Amino acid sequence: MRLYHTLGIEKSLFRGNTWLGNDLDGKNNTLLHTFCCAGFCRWLQWRPMTITSPVGPGPFRAVLAAALVFLLFSCSSETLRPRVDEAYLLGTVVRITVYTDEAEALLEPVFARVADIEARMSTSERDYDRTELLDVNRAPAGTATPVSADTFEVLKEALRYSELSDGAFEVTIWPLVRLWDIGSGHESVPSEGDIARAVSLVDYRKLSLNDDGSVTLPEEGMGVDVGAIAKGYAADEGARILREGGVKHAILDFGGNILVIGSKPDGTPWRVGVQRPDARRNEYIGIVYTSGRTVVTSGPYERFFVEDGVRYHHILDPATGYPSRNGLEQVTVVGDRSIDADALSTTGYVMGLPAGFTLIEELDGVEAVFVTEDHRVYVTSGLKGPDGRSRFELVDEEFRLMGPPEG
Ligand code: AMP
Ligand code: MG
Repeated sequence: MRLYHTLGIEKSLFRGNTWLGNDLDGKNNTLLHTFCCAGFCRWLQWRPMTITSPVGPGPFRAVLAAALVFLLFSCSSETLRPRVDEAYLLGTVVRITVYTDEAEALLEPVFARVADIEARMSTSERDYDRTELLDVNRAPAGTATPVSADTFEVLKEALRYSELSDGAFEVTIWPLVRLWDIGSGHESVPSEGDIARAVSLVDYRKLSLNDDGSVTLPEEGMGVDVGAIAKGYAADEGARILREGGVKHAILDFGGNILVIGSKPDGTPWRVGVQRPDARRNEYIGIVYTSGRTVVTSGPYERFFVEDGVRYHHILDPATGYPSRNGLEQVTVVGDRSIDADALSTTGYVMGLPAGFTLIEELDGVEAVFVTEDHRVYVTSGLKGPDGRSRFELVDEEFRLMGPPEG
């Protein structure tokens, strides 16, 4: 079965997806260069008739030809047509935009790779009878379950972030994820007893990642879940395949996980919109200007249900067993690897202010934007100055830029 379909060349490029404000920029640049080329060609037609070259007609034409070749080359690199393909994978719409003439051959293996990652690492019993991680979670207590190198690598990273955050990020969150089953369409708030039981089964310190590449959980009912990190890994893998295929400019959008390859074709940074938490997808509070990096957001509005007027969302606090609630509306992390940014946006969201902010500020190569329910915006130092590799600009006047959080 073909899992995705082609949207076509430059067809409503970022439809419903003002995540990326570059749509308008791209079109303007294309227009400008078309105009330049047309103007130059007309100039070529006219000038030989009206001026006399001091170096004679031969060299004059050679110079003109060289200039034309240069201009055409510069035009063609900047007017590369984007190609957009999308598929529903990893619980979201995965939309990939590449600027290359060989998109078809390159996008096919990227979507296949993402589908393969989903089929190994999903823990959704609704979508899969078996996956490597469902095998791990269903294995009798204390037995070692072999997994592929991919899955092992993602579990290793998830365990590392669990340790780094003292369990705010929790690789063994599965009993709680399964209990709440948010996104199933028939959710209800579990009983306090069930929540307490699930909380007692969540403890990353009991997970063993064995030297032979197998995984062991010591208690019946324990389980791993990589929903907070797998999209990032998949985006990194997709980008690797595209880069190896020679792609210089691309955007991989995994529904809130954005990874860009290179700069825009005109050499300027991509503009990635940071979504306005309480609004529709295409409204944003600010813009991250960046090249070759990833921008990942975690927030409570991705998946949730409402009961008795209370919103219950999918990012769970392992300490309480309930959806995390600490005054934060969302956390956006900018970094080099999407797996790190994905893990850290979830981590920052659960840890809250100021602890999550401090953690990210202390780590090398990652930056963050924290947005509170009362519309305060906290930005780590590397996103502030013009010297940084990425820069954040607040554009929504209803939100207030703050200094470092206190505490
Ligand atoms: P994200 O959208 O990247 O923030 O990840 C949310 C997903 O990660 C949820 O749908 C769960 O599958 C899983 N998850 C929920 N709470 C946690 C947590 N505290 N630590 C790790 N994974 C979590
Ligand atoms: Mg995440």
